[in-house]
Amino acid sequence: MEIPSILPKKLLAWYDQGHRELPWRSNPTPYWVWVSEIMLQQTRVEAVKPYFARFMQELPTIKDLAEAEEDLLMKLWEGLGYYRRVRNLQAAAKEIMKEFGGEMPRSYPLIRSLPGIGEYTAGAIASIAFGLPRPAVDGNVLRVLSRVCEDERDILKQPIKNDMTRALLAIYPKDRAGDFTQSLMELGAMVCVPNGAPKCEECPLNDLCLAHLRGSTDIIPVKTAKKPRKVEKMTVFLLKHQDQWAVRKRGDEGLLAGLWEFPNQKGFLKEDEAKAQLKEWGIEASKLSFAGKKKHIFTHIEWQMQVCLADCEKAEKTPFLWVTEEQLSGEIALPTAFKKTIK
Ligand code: SF4
Repeated sequence: MEIPSILPKKLLAWYDQGHRELPWRSNPTPYWVWVSEIMLQQTRVEAVKPYFARFMQELPTIKDLAEAEEDLLMKLWEGLGYYRRVRNLQAAAKEIMKEFGGEMPRSYPLIRSLPGIGEYTAGAIASIAFGLPRPAVDGNVLRVLSRVCEDERDILKQPIKNDMTRALLAIYPKDRAGDFTQSLMELGAMVCVPNGAPKCEECPLNDLCLAHLRGSTDIIPVKTAKKPRKVEKMTVFLLKHQDQWAVRKRGDEGLLAGLWEFPNQKGFLKEDEAKAQLKEWGIEASKLSFAGKKKHIFTHIEWQMQVCLADCEKAEKTPFLWVTEEQLSGEIALPTAFKKTIK
């Protein structure tokens, strides 16, 4: 794969004419670039903005992040999902405190070696925060460049990513590495868009983009069909006792590890099965009803949740923590999947 050497010049000229003002770019310290890129991995820019502002207000330095209580960390991440990301952020912050005196290392391999920092994020930090000529190849960049080069390989496979990284390294502008990384991101977000037709008529690369010139933008990028998600059915119990609600912590392994949840059981339980379950938990309910079904989608799994409401008369020695509504919305970091069951 070879990328036209004129591409950086064209893209930077277009970028200089105007681009989005993103809060995390107003002061692109390594910490800001790092946290924002991790947040943006699974979330839209607009949704990330308030999370980023709150995160930086509460934890303005790498040291603050390293020393943060887990509950605060989870609360700051509540609703973003993929909680492993924030755990890795803290693990990396601790390592930076221990090994690098509290400063993000200025070398790509050392940045890449930190927990939770993959090639893309390391490239973004190295180029945007330190001006090092390191590419950050994500889905946006893969889409743009596979079109520019009319490359029909599957962009979800590693070989094209490796080739693209190599080809980009050969043309990276040493004096404007950070801007070049951002101009590629900007083009992928605003012009060569992920959903819908690319806006080729306003694209600065339209005179060299082979997919545009040859009319193959509909079929490039090529992506193999993903495997269907595994469906897991469950019954989620909203248990109320004296104006308090039952929650418990999930196990340390697997999906949403270590986070709070409403008590739940596999499968859509029938009324007698639900009652038997309550009994097993040491609960006597005066009223029990089913309140519809909710769906939540993770990357590889889909949860279908039947909601069961119960007014509990007796709830002694249950394996739960009973919390008020204020605690539920203020202190307890409840994943979005379970929040949906309250609505
Ligand atoms: S010309 Fe069209 S297809 Fe090619 S990079 Fe630009 S927007 Fe994408």
